[in-house]
Amino acid sequence: MDHDRARELFTAYHDEELSSSEVEELESHLAACEACSVEWDTYRRTMEEISGLHKFAAPVGMTEAVEQKIKRRSKGRFFSEQRSFSTQFAIVSFILILLFMAAYLVLTEVTEITVLEEDGKTPTAQERDAGAR
Ligand SMILES: [Zn+2]
Repeated sequence: MDHDRARELFTAYHDEELSSSEVEELESHLAACEACSVEWDTYRRTMEEISGLHKFAAPVGMTEAVEQKIKRRSKGRFFSEQRSFSTQFAIVSFILILLFMAAYLVLTEVTEITVLEEDGKTPTAQERDAGAR
């Protein structure tokens, strides 16, 4: 095995994708060849550092910061403030309750006005009872 061939196999060797005969050939070359051995060591350490990078957690608030930046740069087309479904539901429910209350108040008010218009003065409780009979 020559130096170039040995170095070509580094990736597959690192990913454990070589056949046992290829592993044997490469390892015997690395044992005999100082230059390729150093090269392999560098490759292996570089790969370890790269895979180590993936283990870092994203900084706190990074997602929000990225979303804010995208929102700013896209002039609000992306990640604009949208109310969550539960908030929208709460608002709609509140408005419906207000409407029902308003409707109730209007309807009870209307019967009151009708009574007033009939004789032009506020009926006493007794008159109202008598009228109902
Ligand atoms: Zn070599």
